[in-house]
Amino acid sequence: MKNNSASPNKDIGTRLLEKKVISEDQLQIALKEQEKTRGEKTIGTILVEMGFISEGALGEILSESTGIKKFDIRSAMIDSKLVKKIPKEFATHNKLIAVSSTEDSVNVAMADIFDIVAVDQIRRCFPPNFKIIPVYATEVDILSAIDQYYGYEMSIEGILKEIEGAKDTQNINDESQLRGDYRSPMVRLVDAILTDAVHRGASDLHFEPENSFLRIRYRIDGKMAQIRSIHKEYWSAIAVRIKIMSGMNIAESRKPQDGRVQSEILGRRIDFRVSTQPTIHSENIVMRILDEKQSILTIDKLGFSERNERVLKTMVQRPEGVIILTGPTGSGKTTTLYTILNYINSIDKNIMTLEDPVEYRIPLVRQSNIRADAGMDFASGIKALLRQDPDVILVGEIRDTDTAITAIQAAMTGHQVYTSLHTNDAISAIPRLMNMGVPNYLMSGSLIGVIAQRLARKLCQSCKEEYQINEFEKNLLGDKNQHVSKLYRSKGCEKCNNNGYKGRVAIIEIISFDRELDDMVSNGASRKDMIKYLLSTGFVPMVEDGIEKVIAGTTDLKELIRVVDMTDRMMNNKTAKTTSNNNQIHSNIHKNSASTTKEAIKKTTLNQNSNHKSDSINNHSGIKTEQKKPNS
Ligand SMILES: [Zn+2]
Repeated sequence: MKNNSASPNKDIGTRLLEKKVISEDQLQIALKEQEKTRGEKTIGTILVEMGFISEGALGEILSESTGIKKFDIRSAMIDSKLVKKIPKEFATHNKLIAVSSTEDSVNVAMADIFDIVAVDQIRRCFPPNFKIIPVYATEVDILSAIDQYYGYEMSIEGILKEIEGAKDTQNINDESQLRGDYRSPMVRLVDAILTDAVHRGASDLHFEPENSFLRIRYRIDGKMAQIRSIHKEYWSAIAVRIKIMSGMNIAESRKPQDGRVQSEILGRRIDFRVSTQPTIHSENIVMRILDEKQSILTIDKLGFSERNERVLKTMVQRPEGVIILTGPTGSGKTTTLYTILNYINSIDKNIMTLEDPVEYRIPLVRQSNIRADAGMDFASGIKALLRQDPDVILVGEIRDTDTAITAIQAAMTGHQVYTSLHTNDAISAIPRLMNMGVPNYLMSGSLIGVIAQRLARKLCQSCKEEYQINEFEKNLLGDKNQHVSKLYRSKGCEKCNNNGYKGRVAIIEIISFDRELDDMVSNGASRKDMIKYLLSTGFVPMVEDGIEKVIAGTTDLKELIRVVDMTDRMMNNKTAKTTSNNNQIHSNIHKNSASTTKEAIKKTTLNQNSNHKSDSINNHSGIKTEQKKPNS
């Protein structure tokens, strides 16, 4: 089977020799040994076995000289369905295992990455045109993973059956096994649940013990969804396993704890931020899923309109001043901030951050955590950062006067400052800062821009359906859209788990400050006047940005009403006053519920609040403290 005539092994040997990792003698000894084993083992494996080179060094040199990545199977969670596409005998014989896949490629961890024959044979296990990408892993790790993934039940259902079938529950709570032995079904169960949550694109994973059962919910696209219930009997073992993984004290269950764990899931690095909270039904555990791939995007992936993208790109070119992101918790501010930082990041800039806490790591950027206990809050943190010669500073959030003023002073002394505030719309950032005690004259000239943002769920592009809109809906679209007669609405199919929605899109508005607006700020102009001026310069309010996305079929009206304040438009709707038909927005307002439109609207607003705890809408002043999700 092995194709030694091409002597790929000699290549590794020569490379190791060139790097002076091994000597000529050692290579000769290893080659002789390989002859004895009739080519069953790779030269690399033999060199490792003979103690001439460490496994780690071998992996590094292999990936360095071939561009083939090293894959750390030990900290990875692999989709067992994918693994089993390659027959076990073949995998064992050739020392390889499928570890992750995309729509048209699969990564296969191999001990012998030069085994072209094996790669060719793997092709038969996957659809034609599938790319087979070899990644390197050590033989020992691959064989142990084969044992684990082919030999043990890895699906959630299967593991639960296995647990229920087991007579001996002693094993389940065995602490030494919970420390990471995959023979323990609990270890596999937790792995399988985490993999499932990442696979479904969840942002949070909730373990909620009740009196007699454990409920598992995921937050997907901003909404909580019940996934399954498990008998409470297993909760203590699951909780212990999670605590071990995230470095918590397993003996402590009466005090809240937090921890962190990193894992390779479905081929990418995922961080989990874990917290426990004692409740009346024992400990609640929530795991925040920090998926870099979903959270640091390129600017064009943010879903900004062409105009807004242009405004943003111009804004970030200005060398000094403050750029503020506003919106409630869960509105995607962090993603936008990280994406902007990633966009401006370059070797000729010094970007430094103060975060609470650091969620994603960006290469080159100097990131630090706020440590209130050590006396480093945002305000004192900025002062310290300024001594580190920064060009750009990210201040996670402005919560108090001190931070606000220090941040603005940093901007005035020649720095670009990015930060966030909790306000409902962009213009409200000005009265909010004023309320915090920032004088007009400080703000004027030092603010570059304010971006307000919400996240709306995207219609599933596979099942969305077109429908004829009624007068009420047409009026919601505004005067300039009266030609529109059809829109899209959600339906539900297999691809979206019957939700009708998949993924999210940002609904935004951007204020870019110019001299005129600066003057208005320093003269204390009214909010109304400022908006009037902005509209004359082409400013697109959030509602309009959302309506553009509704007309384009990216999201639907129902979703837009949920995330953006449209009360004005609903109250002033021409048809609303004359009709008693409450079912005016498809499926949004329940039938036979309220007798007047006003009540119907109230009801919609209530729905919004219960649907999404972090989106507090129906507020016009913009100066209001919003409830904050703990830990974010
Ligand atoms: Zn669908």
